Amino acid sequence: LDVDAAQIGGRVLSVHGLQSRVRGEDGVIYECTVRQLLKSLTTDQRHVVVAGDHVAIRVGGPKTGTIERIKPRTSELSRTSKGRQHVIVANVDYLLIVASAAEPGLKPNLIDRFLLTAEQFRIQPIICINKMDLISPAEFQPIMGVYAQLGYRVLLTSAETGQGVPFLKALVKDSQTVVAGQSGVGKSSLLNALEPDLALRIGKVSAENSKGKHTTTASQLIPLAEGGYVVDTPGIRQFQLWDITVREVGGLMRDLRPFVNACRYPDCIHFNEDECAVKDAVADGHIDARRYDAYCQIIEDLQP
Ligand code: GDP
Ligand code: ZN
Repeated sequence: LDVDAAQIGGRVLSVHGLQSRVRGEDGVIYECTVRQLLKSLTTDQRHVVVAGDHVAIRVGGPKTGTIERIKPRTSELSRTSKGRQHVIVANVDYLLIVASAAEPGLKPNLIDRFLLTAEQFRIQPIICINKMDLISPAEFQPIMGVYAQLGYRVLLTSAETGQGVPFLKALVKDSQTVVAGQSGVGKSSLLNALEPDLALRIGKVSAENSKGKHTTTASQLIPLAEGGYVVDTPGIRQFQLWDITVREVGGLMRDLRPFVNACRYPDCIHFNEDECAVKDAVADGHIDARRYDAYCQIIEDLQP
């Protein structure tokens, strides 16, 4: 972001009503308001700026400033509520999908749901299978193979032994990562393996912000000591599918997509129709049966 002499670049950590917390390039946290002109450019005045935005600010006082410009976003995680689209966080690089090999046992269908969201918002997913110390790696070869073949990055970790942690550290450094996964899989433990007390720091920030009465977005960026941010987005942590229609699902699954496109029946949802290119592909072994099962479960959930 090129800025004039009176401005500095920064990153929006969180937004509370009309105030944004911006971390300047100088490392200082500034409480910022948005320049009036920027606001008038949009109809939705309260959501001009979102967590994750790259901005240029004009420093006012020692810890205050005005947001003068917002750099175009590379990605947006958004959701529709009351007929309006709200951006929840901008410029996310990775969706780190944390699952556990055991305790609780691996739930590939849940991984598939997270992958759907990553595809929907064009955010690069990383599948992280944690608690690898509890099982023998050979058990997971077939399922890993399916994801690897689809071009997804699969990372095997153990917060307990440190396996895979250096790799994870290198990955999140200087990028912005959303961490997702069901509870108990070891998200907090992994974050703490990356940096001491990181999970605690995230918890603290969330607690502080939920007390504030003007919280409009729940997303927060937590700066990492060695560069980069972990994004805390409560909605995506718990996880439900957002704004996705039955007709879109197949096209967002890499292995189903070619057969969805080849299906000759325009109204086909590739579910319980008699003749269907997707179902044929499953029968012929071109689509992994478990992946198709995950598809069917999603369709069932989405149908009214
Ligand atoms: P979260 O709910 O996803 O944040 O999961 P936690 O980090 O709280 O971990 C849940 C439980 O799993 C805790 O008892 C951790 O000690 C344990 N745990 C986390 N990671 C590992 C791991 O890699 N191996 C083993 N054996 N246990 C782990
Ligand atoms: Zn079909």
